Amino acid sequence: MVKATRTVIVRSIKLPRRIFSVFVELEGMYRNMVEQLVLFSIKNNVKSFARLKALKYRETRNLYPHLPSHYVYTACQDASTRAKSFLRLKKLGLAKREYPEVKRVSIWLDDHVWKPNGYTSIRIATHKGWVTIEFEPHKQYWRYVNRGWRLASETKIKLDKRNRQLIIYLTFVKEVEEYKPKGYLPVDVNEDNVTILLDGVAYLFETNMKTLVLGYYYRRKSIQERCDKLYGVRSRIKRKVMRKLKERAKKQDVRRKIASNIVETAYEKQYAIVLEKLGKKPANNMIKKIKDRQLRHRIFQASFRGIQRAIEEKARELGVPLIYVNPKHTSKLCPIHNAPINYDNSSRIGRCSGGGELWHRDVVACWNLYLKALRGDGSIAPSPIGLVPLDGSPVPLGSTATHDPIRVPRPVWARRKSLPQTQFTTILNRMKR
Ligand SMILES: [Zn+2]
Repeated sequence: MVKATRTVIVRSIKLPRRIFSVFVELEGMYRNMVEQLVLFSIKNNVKSFARLKALKYRETRNLYPHLPSHYVYTACQDASTRAKSFLRLKKLGLAKREYPEVKRVSIWLDDHVWKPNGYTSIRIATHKGWVTIEFEPHKQYWRYVNRGWRLASETKIKLDKRNRQLIIYLTFVKEVEEYKPKGYLPVDVNEDNVTILLDGVAYLFETNMKTLVLGYYYRRKSIQERCDKLYGVRSRIKRKVMRKLKERAKKQDVRRKIASNIVETAYEKQYAIVLEKLGKKPANNMIKKIKDRQLRHRIFQASFRGIQRAIEEKARELGVPLIYVNPKHTSKLCPIHNAPINYDNSSRIGRCSGGGELWHRDVVACWNLYLKALRGDGSIAPSPIGLVPLDGSPVPLGSTATHDPIRVPRPVWARRKSLPQTQFTTILNRMKR
């Protein structure tokens, strides 16, 4: 059994001033707790929630005797999550300050301080007692309710002070049985594309993630500089926030669509998805050249981690098994001759030093992921002859067709057609040229 989770955001109805002010007070106290706890964690290098709670529960509880005690627990959880991610960034040399700022706060609730109340309201425990909050359900919310997802015991709320509404982050959970795979679908994630190998045919989905991240980064930088000169820092902050949101939404959209496309293909075939086991180091070959450490980190997150995460999430929802293999040498060795492939000055096309044939780097990677999964031991010496997928159909390995991927441009996969249709469209496009 695997557990899939999804967060759905709903808004409360506009609250009476008297009730909303209770939540403003609650948020104030919660923010203070989190700020204190984060500071303490960083100062004393406390990373675990359990330890933070053990050390600080009593003291914090005594400071806020009117607050339901479980807010201290959730504030500890919140704080230890913030401290952990800050310490990680600091270790990578990416933190700008000594301590993390607690800028935006959402109040974490556990099952002691909130309860669902029918389908369209929840109850929340506050320092003024239990309060019932009606919310506005929408299509997406009903879809999860009607498709057998259940609400998790944790939730978060945020205050929209302008509209006197609560923004409620409901988490839905579903448990799914993983199927037994009938074959493998290797996926190779790169900074600008995602390549898969389906029954011996490679498809290359163009993502242009790097251009997307780089473009936003440089554009924002120049706008910031100009704005500072013209209007001062205030307008700068506003624009910065706007652009950041837009960039995030766009990247997320790319990730989700690619992931759905790939995972649904695997599901239809009842295959397992094969992924590279990614290390923590953002120093991937292709982004090593980027000097700015923060930028490098962002590209890594956006293109590698982000897409993998989206695939993992979708796979859990459909019960698609995932297999992780060692990424070592995946694009360096010829899957047929087991000989090194030579790539001239960072070209994506290389020549096999054994057979002299040409290979596309990402196709090589896919084949090697596939072979590693077949052998199941993550070893780096594939045996090329007699390759047969688990369903028995022959693999056209060695034919030229496998060496050049079918390119799937963004406008095509973004429409989210199934792969056979996509292949058809792409071939038609090629014939037109
Ligand atoms: Zn070869």
